[in-house]
Amino acid sequence: MSTLTSNVVVQTPEQCAVLSNAKRIVVKVGSSLVTNEGRGLDANAIEHWCRQLAALVADGREVIMVSSGAIAEGMKRLNWATRPKQVHELQAAAAVGQMGLIHMYESKLRAFGVGSAQVLLTHGDLADRERYLNARTTLTTLLDLGVVPVINENDTVVNDEIKVGDNDTLGALVANLVVADALIILTDQVGLYTADPRRDPTAQFVHVARAGDAHLESMAGGAGSLIGKGGMITKVLAAKRAASSGASTVIASGHESDVLLRLCKGEPLGTWLMAQTGKHQARKRWMSDHLQLRGSVVIDDGAVAKVAKEGKSLLPIGMTAVQGDFSRGDVIAVLNARGDEVARGLANYASSEARLLCKKSSAQFEQLLGYAAEPEMVHRTNLVLTLTSS
Ligand code: GLU
Repeated sequence: MSTLTSNVVVQTPEQCAVLSNAKRIVVKVGSSLVTNEGRGLDANAIEHWCRQLAALVADGREVIMVSSGAIAEGMKRLNWATRPKQVHELQAAAAVGQMGLIHMYESKLRAFGVGSAQVLLTHGDLADRERYLNARTTLTTLLDLGVVPVINENDTVVNDEIKVGDNDTLGALVANLVVADALIILTDQVGLYTADPRRDPTAQFVHVARAGDAHLESMAGGAGSLIGKGGMITKVLAAKRAASSGASTVIASGHESDVLLRLCKGEPLGTWLMAQTGKHQARKRWMSDHLQLRGSVVIDDGAVAKVAKEGKSLLPIGMTAVQGDFSRGDVIAVLNARGDEVARGLANYASSEARLLCKKSSAQFEQLLGYAAEPEMVHRTNLVLTLTSS
């Protein structure tokens, strides 16, 4: 991939490959697209995206839909012509509208042979380590099952302290949560311009740039710019956020025919905001940033081969000892029999539970713990090989 600068650069085939190679993709669609500018759910548009989502799933991709539109649809169903100012009325509208929204996705996806699941999140859920991990486990389980999670903010319960506030940001948080390869933000505009093209003849379309580029933020948020008014700043900031876990972002028009399929073939539609850090590097750096690990597990040679050579999850059956005192969600070291660090990862079990699970198969977990939880001690998506020594 070419080095990106703050200037607009021409997209290269290598950059396009980001999406053609993407396995796990988060797609976000905004209220104005979903509800046809507030005129009610746009069944044709939703069907159009669902058909593409189903084709992507059939192609072996894992797709998450983050969809807005609950409040707009709720207002329509309640015959409210203007958006209410009172928070409790907005929350009521969201509760009414979410019903229609999820029903529409469920029925359209089902018609294309794909299962769907409703997941409503708040910032409070993602800030709490335990709930964050639970959300991640649920989402990755759904993806493993070939189901498309349809996510929205849980508007009915949020207040200013716990809300994400906009679904561009929610899309980025979800991309980080599941360590997606790409975030596609579908909007009613074709992408990002350097200025308002209706007023400024020198305005240029931004085909590709570096996510997190300060120049982009000033462009997207600039006074009087069309893109600023169109909510582009939240998209640019979402791209920056998603880039922290290695996901690149594309901002493209949801009206474009087969937009998702074409993007996923690498067609250069819309604006591509490229993550500079590879997914693996971002995870590795995040794990490596943990200077003080709270504990470790020692694994046998068979488990070392599975984890280090075959890219498998770490299962308790391969664990011979547990050291230290750690909680579910802590970063722990994975050591071979000689005590060398082979990998690091997020523990699915606290040390006290892990001790009970050493050398045990998952069939015994429920009896040992009193509940059935994940079969892995560290899931492969939360595991980074460190191999500091052989
Ligand atoms: N969660 C809100 C809704 O479904 C939308 C938030 C947004 O569009 O950014 O109405």
